[in-house]
Amino acid sequence: MTDVFADLVGQDEAVATLRRAAASAAALLRAAAPAVARAGAPAAGGADPDGGHDDLDALAEELDGTGGATGQGAEGVDPGAGMTHAWIFTGPPGSGRSVAARAFAAALQCVHGTGCGRCPGCHTTLAGTHADVRLVVPEGLSIGVNEMRALVLRAASTPSGGRWQVVIIEDADRLTEAAGNALLKAVEEPPPRTVFLLCAPSTHPDDISVTIRSRCRLVPLRQPPAGAVAEVLVRRDGIAPDVAEWAAAAAQGHVGRARRLARDPEARQRRDAVLAVPRRLTGVGAAFDAASALIEAAEAEAAAAVAETDEAERAALQTALGAGGTGRGAAGAMRGAAGQLKDLERRQKSRATRAQRDALDRALVDLAGFYRDALTMALRAPVAPVHTDTAALAGAGAQKWDAEGALRRLEAVLECRAAIEANVKPRIAVEAMMLALWKG
Ligand SMILES: [Zn+2]
Repeated sequence: MTDVFADLVGQDEAVATLRRAAASAAALLRAAAPAVARAGAPAAGGADPDGGHDDLDALAEELDGTGGATGQGAEGVDPGAGMTHAWIFTGPPGSGRSVAARAFAAALQCVHGTGCGRCPGCHTTLAGTHADVRLVVPEGLSIGVNEMRALVLRAASTPSGGRWQVVIIEDADRLTEAAGNALLKAVEEPPPRTVFLLCAPSTHPDDISVTIRSRCRLVPLRQPPAGAVAEVLVRRDGIAPDVAEWAAAAAQGHVGRARRLARDPEARQRRDAVLAVPRRLTGVGAAFDAASALIEAAEAEAAAAVAETDEAERAALQTALGAGGTGRGAAGAMRGAAGQLKDLERRQKSRATRAQRDALDRALVDLAGFYRDALTMALRAPVAPVHTDTAALAGAGAQKWDAEGALRRLEAVLECRAAIEANVKPRIAVEAMMLALWKG
């Protein structure tokens, strides 16, 4: 099984939904193909620039389920039954929201209509080079309205490959309100061959507006079980089974994080440092030191992550602007350049902030796993620990704190995450958490 859905770990239900939809979308295209060809014929004389548009409108109605309720279509697939214009993929981080969206996009562009994983449509979509698939990955903290308007405009054009225009929006919860409104317009009156695939943590109104939600079909993904994550690490990435099992448990169902832990010694070191925190909280001073260490580690990790891209972007912009030019007009060009440079710096700063928050959040998730282990041990719950390598320490904590104390500490970590999410300054939130972890 190496089709485009193979890497979607532990999501059988979602995969079944998406396979049905892809088959139905392919049936719609087959049903529309002869009509479009007929309508396109006169265009050979150059008289009909809008060739085939009416048929596409009919197709759009069919997709909406408002027209053409014709029952079974080609090959026994009911067109329109499984397919729609707008989808939301939800699930916890690492569950594979964007993997699912990309796989579905590939299945829509697949020449066999199945997501075979071998044809040019599948390949180019997964490689990110398909002309009719646009991927929006917000680099900063939000997706702006201009970006969204441009995207919506381009998405309205007829697909060059003759199948679908697909727009994937990763982290749709990071849309600004204005950008959300621009998207809503497109989702409400979808161009006939355009499909929007949104990814968000949940359908909570904080993540996605109620109106957009109401226009989309939902594909909920669950946290994949550790066993399924370990299996894919072994099969796909060739990681040794014992390492894969440890990493899958430690990553708490986050596939990408599990792979990083299994492969990247620096990621393992950072995790070790985080899991050393509970041991080091011996007093107020130690709590503040631990907070500083955690924040600085996140800053360093983020800086390393964005440094290369930042430098490449700066160099590219300087080349494009002809930096160092001395000819006529160079002074005027430099004035315009200053604005562009400032713009780039602003975007880079936003991306750095986001990278810091992501790094800090990973650390907090690891820490939460430790106190969860202490809690389940205090309760003698028959579940496997998240962090097998600190299980003894968590066991000692369970004895010392009891279930109640372990729960209070777990809650302190979760509150810290929520506070940072709500824009509390990370240092303040982390210091408050460390004090709570020390006092219990
Ligand atoms: Zn294919």
